[in-house]
Amino acid sequence: MAVCAVDENFSQVTDQPKKQPKLGSAKEIRKLEALSGHQTGEDCRCTRLHCFQVTSAEERHCLVDHYNSLSSKDAQVSLSAALINVGSVERKRKF
Ligand SMILES: [Zn+2]
Repeated sequence: MAVCAVDENFSQVTDQPKKQPKLGSAKEIRKLEALSGHQTGEDCRCTRLHCFQVTSAEERHCLVDHYNSLSSKDAQVSLSAALINVGSVERKRKF
């Protein structure tokens, strides 16, 4: 009984308030997860570029971390666009 009385008296003053932390709306949380939830996938095993043989696991992890740390989708798209190399056509198709 005495414990309950103490709890009632000091319920206003506590180090750990029962208030829920303000995380934003569910839409904002989903948006944040979509923005920073990218992971390195499995080995693509492509024969032309040899992606997973050319880059180390640490380099891939660093790149994905940097990509996830960007503040907006637009910044992520800009980074992706900047990383694309446009090469010249080596042999044109005959129709
Ligand atoms: Zn590949």
